[in-house]
Amino acid sequence: MESRKLANGTSIPAVGFGVFQISADATAQAVADAIAAGYRHIDTAQSYFNEAAVGEGIRRSGIAREDLFVTTKVWIDNYGEGSTRASIEESLAKLGLDYVDLFLLHQPFNDVYGSWRDLEKAYEDGLVRAIGVSNFTPARLHDLGSFNAVYPMVNQIEVNPFHQQTERVAQLQEHGVVVEAWAPFGEGRSGLFTNPVLSEIGAQYGKSVAQVVLRWLIQRGIVPLAKSVHAERMQQNLDVFDFELSAQDMEKIASLDEGSSLFFKHEDLGTVDYMKQLVEQRRK
Ligand code: NAP
Repeated sequence: MESRKLANGTSIPAVGFGVFQISADATAQAVADAIAAGYRHIDTAQSYFNEAAVGEGIRRSGIAREDLFVTTKVWIDNYGEGSTRASIEESLAKLGLDYVDLFLLHQPFNDVYGSWRDLEKAYEDGLVRAIGVSNFTPARLHDLGSFNAVYPMVNQIEVNPFHQQTERVAQLQEHGVVVEAWAPFGEGRSGLFTNPVLSEIGAQYGKSVAQVVLRWLIQRGIVPLAKSVHAERMQQNLDVFDFELSAQDMEKIASLDEGSSLFFKHEDLGTVDYMKQLVEQRRK
């Protein structure tokens, strides 16, 4: 599979397999199936409650550790110096790995600075090969990178045809940050899989809407994270390296942008309230 380079020279496979909302029971098989289909990049998080199952899936696949790129993310409740370090060690134990390839701060809330210092230390100690953030605006990421030793290498944000984040992606890429797209299909919201513009473009190339979306992201220099529990779709979502969308088709897709999240806006006060509630609920 094609790959991209992070700022520290680490290679990251150009498409990742996401395991959000796959139950812990189904995750091991999904990960083993994804690896069998050709994925070499797996994206999980402490808050998905399936890190142990991801580890089981990796072992079941028989793949050599060095051939895989594994990402996980620190959950807000584990933010702060000391707490983040303990949570990194716990994630490694659950995954059954000596190191992860990429560790991200999952959300731009709570004690981001304290957590970042723990991520930097874990990076220095070789427990993680690269560090980054998720759901940060470019300004918040730039702040974190400017006043600390390590500049975030990745920002994982929502990018799909209805929420393209063009200016933010450009700002991040200009600063050498690799942008990963979560919910590249918007989880199917707003009729994405039957969108007439995307369907028509797909028909020209003999590709599905999902493949058109992934190809559009790849051509923007973005690393998409696609989730599926179906082996056939897993394969389909990797079969995106044998065609190229024309400039005209890229423009047609650009015209689909609605400029607003299909899920939540991280700059809204209500989102902070929601995250705080989630933390409190999970503590119970
Ligand atoms: P997504 O990948 O946009 O959409 C997944 C949905 O699309 C599933 O319902 C899946 O169905 C369907 N699908 C996948 N491939 C398809 C195809 N070829 N044809 C038709 N339907 C298809 O949504 P997501 O899981 O929310 O996002 C992807 C990954 O991004 C996550 O798994 C996670 O790793 C990451 N993520 C990160 C954050 C964050 O805050 N950092 C937030 C959300 C997600 P089936 O499974 O039934 O095939």
